[in-house]
Amino acid sequence: MRLSLLPSLALALGLTACGSGGDTTTSTLPRATAAGIVFSTSNEPAKLLFGPVEAPSRQAPEAFGGYSRGCLAGAAQLAETGPTWQAMRLSRNRNWGHPELISYVQRLAAKAAAQPGWAGLYVGDMSQPRGGPMSSGHASHQIGLDVDIWMLPPKRLDLSPAERESLSSISMQRTGGAFVNADWTPSHHEVIKAAASDPAVDRIFVFAGAKVQMCKDETGDRAWLRKIRPWYGHHYHFHVRLACPKGDKACTNQAPPPPGDGCADAEQWVANILDPPPPDPDAKPVPPRPPLTLADLPGQCTSVLKAQ
Ligand SMILES: [Zn+2]
Repeated sequence: MRLSLLPSLALALGLTACGSGGDTTTSTLPRATAAGIVFSTSNEPAKLLFGPVEAPSRQAPEAFGGYSRGCLAGAAQLAETGPTWQAMRLSRNRNWGHPELISYVQRLAAKAAAQPGWAGLYVGDMSQPRGGPMSSGHASHQIGLDVDIWMLPPKRLDLSPAERESLSSISMQRTGGAFVNADWTPSHHEVIKAAASDPAVDRIFVFAGAKVQMCKDETGDRAWLRKIRPWYGHHYHFHVRLACPKGDKACTNQAPPPPGDGCADAEQWVANILDPPPPDPDAKPVPPRPPLTLADLPGQCTSVLKAQ
């Protein structure tokens, strides 16, 4: 493999692949303001309506619906550069979230900056200005409560916008995600532990080998490990999901993770990576799901789109 392919490969494999099932088609619609959107058909993919909107709604902040089927009113923007973070891939305009997510990222970045070799955090995708389905990369990240944090320890926080487009994160995995590789450090453990220990967090997605490593290395309190959930991909970044903020009555939480630290479950993931079980002969192929339309989202999302 030629070296010049690596950044784009990293992008394709790691940085955009998050959650599940996000396709990679790109909207060809011109960028437009919300006021310019015409609600012509109800079966138009909602990603084509939310994707082009460049600014949040002037509404009270509130998450509507679920992480993979919702939208966000009154989003706040994570500053492109702060004392302990930089938002990456600014061209995507996904450094938006519920104000509680903005506060969370700022808290976590300050803790990360206390780790040796970490100037803070490189922050990947959050949500679009009004949340909603995205044209590429994610099934979730729709209600302003998800954030991808790069595994690459930031050495500097003065990256130019162009550098934030070209720089790639690094993969932490080997053997298909069964194990961490030599770039994994105790600081990764500490940053992810800090991320999970924040009471605002519902769960964190990371590849199975990382969870098993943290299960082995943790010598103190293990309660936070329950929130670390093995998932596909997630070796260039980890994905933090906040619980629905109190008061956001139309926000749908996920069922809580099973009790316990989940370490045996993560070890089973690893065993399945190393020795995949035979395919189920009775399994029926899953037909591709059609893209979400506005009608699939909570009714409030129409107001979020139409609002000034
Ligand atoms: Zn994510």
